[in-house]
Amino acid sequence: MKHELLPVTASCSGGRLAIAGHDLGALAREFATPLYVYDGETVRQDLAALRQALAAAYPGPTEITYAAKAYFAPRFASKLAALGLGVDVVSLGELRVAQRAGFSPEKIHLHGNNKSAAELRAALELNLQAIVVDSLDELMFLESLARERQHEGSPRPESCPKIWLRITPGLTVDTHAYRQTGHHTTKFGIPIADGQAAEAIRYARNSPHLNLVGLHTHLGSQVYEAGPYVEALQMLYALARAENFTPLELSPGGGWYVRYTSDAPDIPLNTWVQSVAAAVQAECDRSGIPLPRLVLEPGRWLAARAGVALYTVGTCKNSGDGTRWVAVDGGMADNLRPALYGARYTAIVPERMEDPATERVNLVGKFCESGDFLIENTYLPPVARGDLLALPASGAYHLSMASNYNLAERPAALWLEEGEIEVLQPHEDILSAAWWNS
Ligand SMILES: *Cc1c(COP(=O)(O)O)cnc(C)c1O
Repeated sequence: MKHELLPVTASCSGGRLAIAGHDLGALAREFATPLYVYDGETVRQDLAALRQALAAAYPGPTEITYAAKAYFAPRFASKLAALGLGVDVVSLGELRVAQRAGFSPEKIHLHGNNKSAAELRAALELNLQAIVVDSLDELMFLESLARERQHEGSPRPESCPKIWLRITPGLTVDTHAYRQTGHHTTKFGIPIADGQAAEAIRYARNSPHLNLVGLHTHLGSQVYEAGPYVEALQMLYALARAENFTPLELSPGGGWYVRYTSDAPDIPLNTWVQSVAAAVQAECDRSGIPLPRLVLEPGRWLAARAGVALYTVGTCKNSGDGTRWVAVDGGMADNLRPALYGARYTAIVPERMEDPATERVNLVGKFCESGDFLIENTYLPPVARGDLLALPASGAYHLSMASNYNLAERPAALWLEEGEIEVLQPHEDILSAAWWNS
């Protein structure tokens, strides 16, 4: 059984898998595949666990901001806004969706390594909780935009846009190279090593047009040790001490690890939360400064396990070397992660949960790329055309990265509650897509 990878409401009877009481086979027939389903209860329980862990570990003020890029259809965004979360956006599109979903500006942070003038102007206009500045170049660009908006003379700091600096500590974490963002050669953030971070702090504090309130770092994604977070926080505080700067707000980013396969280690949430909270407290003690508002930025951790992808098996065939290929009606257009960084998954047969996985197969998509794998070299119960397959832990970085490659229509997504189904996004109709008809 792979229940530990499934949403909390998953249940099995007569070999059939249901989520929030909804039979997955019935949903697939009603809404067609590929189909994504999100379990509302899993999102709420995971968020509650995170809030509880944070409140227990950290005596100062806290905030949890969801990284919108993990998945952010407007209706999904509304659910998260109603749960009282903050949100990290990285584009005008995400910002507009966040606003319409009901996130107030003081709950929104703007990230990104190359924010456009339009994105920065929108952030200034709305007076977002913080703009997270990613480079010295952007610091000066933002200052010039802020200056344009401000009256002559020196505005009071309170009326200046609140900014954080995204600092690159120069740490390598044990995850895929494309998921690392905290090492020396990344495109993200302001490096400590060559003095740019210190220069940015001095520049921002001296600017009459900007209000530097916080420091930020984000090490990457699928990070499964707390050690690098602690080290990064120590480096941020060493930097702050050297500049005699007291951060009022601080974020070690997101990136906490989620399981996609049963053999992956099960690391408790507290490993991350307690280590981060303890490191911040120790550093503030050492500096003799008050605790900052501690902001955690989970994306994957809040969205991945709540989501399940459903596919229908089509062509099954053997190649000359004995390899068995099972192809489904989705693939890299709705789940780019295996092709992009070799992500591993577990497939299950939701209408025959008790059948043993005895057949070794390559599970592939229908798209015109040899790299269009869902799972290379996995075991499944014997399947044939028409069988339903499910991929647990599909809620993050699937639909948000989905494309129209081969002019595929992006799948529908549903939000499931006991006795209730809500369409988060309808199955796309390629011929009526707005961009297509313009
Ligand atoms: C992507 C991102 C996150 C979330 O990462 P996850 O791996 O989804 O938790 C948090 N903060 C920043 C700045 C990011 O870019």
